[in-house]
Amino acid sequence: MNTVELTGVTKAYGSTRALDAVDLSFDRGITGLLGPNGAGKTTLLRIVATSIAADGGEVRLLDRDPHGSQAEVTAIRRQLGYLPQELGYPADMTAFGFVEYVAVLKEWNDRRRRHAEVRRVLELVGLGDLATKRVARLSGGQRRRVALAQALLGDPRILVLDEPTTGLDPTQRADLRRTLSVIAGGCAVLLSTHQTEDVAALCERVVVLASGTVRFDGTVTDLVATA
Ligand code: ADP
Ligand code: ADP
Repeated sequence: MNTVELTGVTKAYGSTRALDAVDLSFDRGITGLLGPNGAGKTTLLRIVATSIAADGGEVRLLDRDPHGSQAEVTAIRRQLGYLPQELGYPADMTAFGFVEYVAVLKEWNDRRRRHAEVRRVLELVGLGDLATKRVARLSGGQRRRVALAQALLGDPRILVLDEPTTGLDPTQRADLRRTLSVIAGGCAVLLSTHQTEDVAALCERVVVLASGTVRFDGTVTDLVATA
C-alpha cells in the first residue's frame, strides 16, 4: 500500500482541465511539486488534502477512501496535515486558540491531551512563547509558522504544504527546512514551490506538472541532468 495513491485523477473547472489523468503515488519522504502557474499544483494538493474531490479516477489515502464513510474520512484527517496557500484567521483568536480549533476539527475530544499536543507543535515551530498572542498581532513569518503548526498536529502520516516558503526570509526558510527534516522520516510530505533552491535543499523527489499532466518525476539530480 502506498500512503498516497492517485490513479487517473482528473479535475476540470468548466472547460479548464486542471488535472488530466494523473497517476502518482507517494510514500515516506519529501516530494517537491514544481510547474508554471496554472499547472495544477494547488488542485493536486487540495485533492490529496481532501479539501476538494476529483471528477474522475481514484484517490486512496492510507489505503482508505477520502470520500467514503464519515469514520473513514475522520481517520484520514487525523493523520493528515494541510497548509493551504492562504489561511484565514478569525480576528481575535490567539495562536494557541487557532491551533486548538484545528485539533477540535480532528475530533480530538480529550482536552488535556489536545492542549499538550497544541503546545508541542507551537514549540516545534518556535512559537512557544507567543502562544497567547493574537494571530492578528503576529508578523507575517510568525503567522506562517502558526499555519505550519496546525499542519503538524498529531504527527501526520501525510503532510501537504502549498508554497510553504512564500513570504519567509532566508533564516525562516532554513528553520522550516530543519523542522521538515525532523518530521519527514515517517511521513509523506508533498510541497509545492516556485523556489528551485527549496527543492534542491529539501526534496528527495521532484514532480513537474504542466497543463495538468506529469512532465517529470524523479530525483533533483535527474531533473538537473534533463534540463
Ligand atoms: P497551480 O497551483 O499550478 O498554479 P491550479 O491548480 O491553481 O494551478 O490551477 C490549475 C488550473 O485550474 C488553472 O488554469 C486555474 O485557472 C484553474 N482553476 C483552479 N482553481 C479554479 C477554480 N476554483 N475555478 C476555476 N478555475 C480554477
Ligand atoms: P491515538 O493516540 O488516539 O491513537 P495518535 O497517536 O495518532 O492517536 O495521536 C496523535 C496525537 O494526537 C496524540 O499524541 C495526541 O496528542 C493527539 N490526540 C489523539 N487523540 C486525541 C484525543 N482523543 N484527544 C486529544 N488529543 C488526541
